[in-house]
Amino acid sequence: MYFMQPEENENLKNMFAPKTGDMSAEDFRRAGHEIIDWIADYSQNIESFPVLSQVEPNWLKSNLPQSAPDHGEDFAAVFRDIDKLILPAVTHWNHPNFHGLFSTSVSAPGIFGELLSAAFDMKAMLWRTSPASTELEEVVTDWLRQMMNLDDGFKGIIYDTASVSTLHAIAAAREGLSLKIRENGMSGRDDLPLLRVYTSEQSHSSVEKAVLLLGLGQKSLVKIPTNERFEMDAGKLREAIEADKRDGCVPFCVVATIGTTSTASVDPIAEIVPVCEENAMWLHVDAAYAGSAAIVPEFQKLFKGCERADSLVTNPHKWLFTPFDLSILYCRHTDLLKRAFSLVPEYLKTDEAVTNQMDYGIQLGRRFRALKLWFVIRYFGRDGLIERLREHCRLAQLLASWIEKSEDWELVAPVNFALVCFRASSKTIENFDALNEKLMNEINASGEAYLSHTKLNDKYTLRLSIGNIRVEERHIKKVWNLLNEKLQAEATAQSAAL
Ligand code: PLP
Repeated sequence: MYFMQPEENENLKNMFAPKTGDMSAEDFRRAGHEIIDWIADYSQNIESFPVLSQVEPNWLKSNLPQSAPDHGEDFAAVFRDIDKLILPAVTHWNHPNFHGLFSTSVSAPGIFGELLSAAFDMKAMLWRTSPASTELEEVVTDWLRQMMNLDDGFKGIIYDTASVSTLHAIAAAREGLSLKIRENGMSGRDDLPLLRVYTSEQSHSSVEKAVLLLGLGQKSLVKIPTNERFEMDAGKLREAIEADKRDGCVPFCVVATIGTTSTASVDPIAEIVPVCEENAMWLHVDAAYAGSAAIVPEFQKLFKGCERADSLVTNPHKWLFTPFDLSILYCRHTDLLKRAFSLVPEYLKTDEAVTNQMDYGIQLGRRFRALKLWFVIRYFGRDGLIERLREHCRLAQLLASWIEKSEDWELVAPVNFALVCFRASSKTIENFDALNEKLMNEINASGEAYLSHTKLNDKYTLRLSIGNIRVEERHIKKVWNLLNEKLQAEATAQSAAL
């Protein structure tokens, strides 16, 4: 459904590039007003779109020219193609019934922050190339640190994603071993023992990817079993480390998770901390999803022990209404990050006694990401953000209560935050795995809502994540009704076939 017809939009016509230079300020203003109007309409009407894009693979590619235009086009025509070509191929992450993976959404202040950051186009590498970006990043990550009740030993650094934050944390942990890996690398060395990283079997694949990228190899990663609540077993962690030490390996890092991807389970950080401390290991906490919940007072108990972690990642782009991408690594040992990554060629040498962000990671230039988070925090305030997260968790508990009361459904994991893992287990139907997959596929194909799945104890499990800034009880009720209608239809079809 197209709610706007740009063809009829006189305001956008005849907007051709001048012979030299950029679009005129007058045209920019004209197009800018239209685009902001478009975004306002899009946000207001988001529920009229199918959540998952309904196009077939290659639909967009087959509708686009194979090579770039030789001559500039009327910007009106360019923008018209947003409606005609781009919108049908959009999966609407901002739809309140997007419950797959982790439900995330932007907010208006976040969009404005992103817009202004594009206008500044700052490359934060040296302080002098980006004083605002460098200093605002320090201030805003410190605000969030305080909101999350983390102590001031943690310094925040913004990266694009949690995968990259975790990569940097493990690189810093490895640098702390003082094995001259920076100078001599790892290959062709007889003097290096097998270095080991430990994480739970429920942790995110980004941990394994970091190990791959750092050249440690998959055999460096030990996946510790979890208990019936999908939490890392700290006793088994200790046993694995002790056995590895007896075998001459060097255990150097544990990645624990608060809010695992499949079930949002919480590893027992307070029990893992002493194991790390006794073995002089780095503890990195992956709170990419659930870190935002640390701002809610009643959830802070789930973060107990983080005060003794070495680093922690949280993604405001997941559950703090900040446009993708913005991930924060809180790190106690930024000196080690700097030792691992700083490399200053002559053309980047400066003499100010300042933070140069290029020293703390693989990228030279960084986007001005802090601006959008600053807008979000200032506009909603701590209280406003807490209330929104609380409401998401209330809705998750509400859905869990419906599931518990029903004979046809079962909860498959505890509901810690705003993610519900469940499955149809109706006594009247056979082959639950196939049934649950079918229900999910039907709902997703309908465009009414988007759910995703995981496997828990080998059982096909549906995941419903609640995190959209506009989500209301009616949206959760709608999915619950859809699930029950589809289940009923399946039961009827199966009994008719008998
Ligand atoms: N860690 C956890 C627990 C996650 O759930 C995810 C993604 O969902 C990630 C890390 C990776 O996040 P990103 O896409 O920011 O790399």
